[in-house]
Amino acid sequence: MHIAFIGLGNMGGGMAANQAKAGRTVHAFDLSVTALERARANGCLPAASAAEAVKQADVVITMLPAGAHVRAAYAADILPHARPGALLIDCSTIDVDSARAVAADALKAGLRAADAPVSGGTAAADAGTLAFMVGAAEADFAAVEAALAPMSRVTIHAGASGAGQAAKICNNMLLGVSMLGTCEAFALAEKLGLAADRFFEIASKSSGQCWSVTSYCPVEGVGPATPADRHYDGGFATAMMLKDLKLAQEAAARAGAATPMGAQAEALYALFANQGYAGRDFSAVLQLLRGQVETLKKD
Ligand code: NAD
Repeated sequence: MHIAFIGLGNMGGGMAANQAKAGRTVHAFDLSVTALERARANGCLPAASAAEAVKQADVVITMLPAGAHVRAAYAADILPHARPGALLIDCSTIDVDSARAVAADALKAGLRAADAPVSGGTAAADAGTLAFMVGAAEADFAAVEAALAPMSRVTIHAGASGAGQAAKICNNMLLGVSMLGTCEAFALAEKLGLAADRFFEIASKSSGQCWSVTSYCPVEGVGPATPADRHYDGGFATAMMLKDLKLAQEAAARAGAATPMGAQAEALYALFANQGYAGRDFSAVLQLLRGQVETLKKD
């Protein structure tokens, strides 16, 4: 299988490497020379341009920062140069409207297209254990799943074009809200003199149980190892959470959905990011609620 991989950053670098490791021919392109050199070291074939990379490809995978980058790459490089019938899979996290627009343009050009954003950070990208949520025609899903296999732990068909992006932003809005609720509860427990490890055990086995409590506890030394145990370094950056919450709010406004908790979460994460903590893991917002924000390393 010939793959074109465009966007070899923190996520795309490891994902392209896993495609090459699986024995596929990977024509890789990024604007960054360093990223291209790393791709070469990982068994990919660096291309001179995105247009060059897509010419021979059965499958074109993009992993770019935002909707504008994806729209531009599709219009200028991918749609005019892809082989007839090629399968285009955008794994970036972008707005639903851009996802639907590029898929419609691809269809008009005689190509097949899917949106397949991921859950899991750079560690999962490197390990090939990402979760993909896919928006694609029913008839194309098996081909999408096969193309993503070397990078995937699980691949779920969310629905038609754009449904993968819809699932991604709804999931991450839920995560942002649940993390803030978790942080508030631990901060209140502390003020009430409750030991954090006792509260962790109780909430983990009671109706407050959620992933933010049991698997990603924001309190240092409590529960399994998380970014809280390493000064909130690494993990899922506040800037990334804020990007996803903004996408959710824009989508909610367009769809006429009421998302007051999502709006609160966006406002709180924007406040936290603007104070200089956009690079901290998103669970570090606990320190803001505790009144201990100055203990955090600034960007
Ligand atoms: P990144 O900024 O590290 O990588 C993006 C890469 O795209 C860069 O190397 C950049 O040079 C390249 N690029 C930009 N425009 C280009 C173009 N026109 N042609 C070729 N290359 C171009 O970002 P990332 O962390 O890898 O994230 C990529 C996407 O994945 C984003 O949409 C992000 O929201 C999403 N995502 C990230 C994470 C994470 O933990 N980092 C997790 C889930 C989803």
